[in-house]
Amino acid sequence: MKSPEKIVVIGAGIVGVSTAYELALRGAAVTLLDAREGAGLGTSYANGGQLSASEVAPWAGPEIPWLILRWLGRDDAPFRLRPKMDPEQWLWLLRFLMRCRASARAERIPPNLDLALLTRARLAAYEAEFSAAGASLDYQRKEKGILRIFREAHALKEAVRDSALIARLGLEQIELAPAGCVNVEPALGAAMQRGDIAGGLYAASDASGDAYLYSAALADGAKRRGVTFMTGTAATRILAEDGRVRGVDTAAGRLDADAVVIAAGTETRALLKPFGARSYIYPLKGYSVTLPAPEGNAPEVSITDEARKIVVSRLGNRIRAAGQAEVGGYDLTLEPGRARSVLNALEGMLPQMGPVRGQAEYWCGLRPMTPDGSPVIGEIPGTANLFVNSGHGTLGWTLGAGSGAVVADLVCGSAPQLDVSPFSIKRF
Ligand SMILES: Cc1cc2nc3c(=O)[nH]c(=O)nc-3n(C[C@H](O)[C@H](O)[C@H](O)COP(=O)(O)OP(=O)(O)OC[C@H]3O[C@@H](n4cnc5c(N)ncnc54)[C@H](O)[C@@H]3O)c2cc1C
Repeated sequence: MKSPEKIVVIGAGIVGVSTAYELALRGAAVTLLDAREGAGLGTSYANGGQLSASEVAPWAGPEIPWLILRWLGRDDAPFRLRPKMDPEQWLWLLRFLMRCRASARAERIPPNLDLALLTRARLAAYEAEFSAAGASLDYQRKEKGILRIFREAHALKEAVRDSALIARLGLEQIELAPAGCVNVEPALGAAMQRGDIAGGLYAASDASGDAYLYSAALADGAKRRGVTFMTGTAATRILAEDGRVRGVDTAAGRLDADAVVIAAGTETRALLKPFGARSYIYPLKGYSVTLPAPEGNAPEVSITDEARKIVVSRLGNRIRAAGQAEVGGYDLTLEPGRARSVLNALEGMLPQMGPVRGQAEYWCGLRPMTPDGSPVIGEIPGTANLFVNSGHGTLGWTLGAGSGAVVADLVCGSAPQLDVSPFSIKRF
């Protein structure tokens, strides 16, 4: 099938930029729009940096309702509910709680893992294409793996059980004793001595990097391949007539389009609303803190601390820690107490961070989260050539390039490289 002539991609985060780049690789004429002044300035700006195919299990699981209750009323709770007079929030929560079953979590692992492995392959392909064009896709990638550490033996045991399913699907993880964890990442020595580590799981093939640098560099690569990138341009409405997309109204005027891809993160829901399509994407606010790496004993391996509920990545000469999840609407106010609790957790794990504490840069962002922990990818029923690529939640960096490739195939009428039915909006 012939690809549509003019394609508009709304949103230039990890997901939208990857989509635009993939479309350009297929020879399509693409306009990429973002309301902000550049690429990667939304939720993709300062995330945890993990490319974590080993951690594609959804957050919703049997332990979550009890954790929410246990943490109720605690200001620094890793998971916090801020009830709103908003039916959208309650519908999301209800659906999320209904997914808090082991079987529901296991059901989502295979499709998410497929997408994460496709992302790995696409990132390698982008690097090769950049270097063939005499450019470099530099996003401070580290290929040192991801180490999950556990304080409680029973939590480790459960994770080992989940990892068996992931191993059957082709991604190996090694179970480690506390000393084995320190062997992999010597910066964890102090945490082990304090008895904070009961053991770990190490995925050597995982990686980490700076998602903002990736988004900005890939947007440049897309421009080199002919994509028109309009910054500071909000899409106000998607125009459709006779069941087909015709264009997009923007603050800068109307853009005609033969196909539109919505990759607008947490704003996706609003853009979809006029089409009667429910994506159930709701914001989950998270925080990160970025500091200079201390001299000497700074981690190189990306770490997930399951007890403290933070992830830590080395980005060049910086360290970033990220965590916290708040179900509390679209408010992006940075609460100093919650931001500091991420820094405190980082210092609990790596006491050597202390001296650089004063140079911490805090940030918060809204994860576009579906209740079941998989993104929404594909065509919107009832409107020809309207596509969505959003709702990547906690995994946008891990799944973004793969989902960009899949959507580009769908838009161009080719068979996608994996089964997209688990990601269809029809599942809601
Ligand atoms: C604290 C934290 C830690 C995280 N850690 C990780 C991690 O370690 N690994 C991982 O894989 N994922 C992680 N994530 C998740 C990941 O960052 C997100 O899933 C990802 O950034 C979502 O990308 P996106 O492109 O969908 O959204 P965004 O990056 O938000 O991009 C959407 C873009 O659309 C634009 N937009 C919205 N509406 C309009 C409109 N009407 N017109 C024009 N433009 C519009 C916005 O300006 C924005 O730039 C983390 C998230 C947080 C908050």
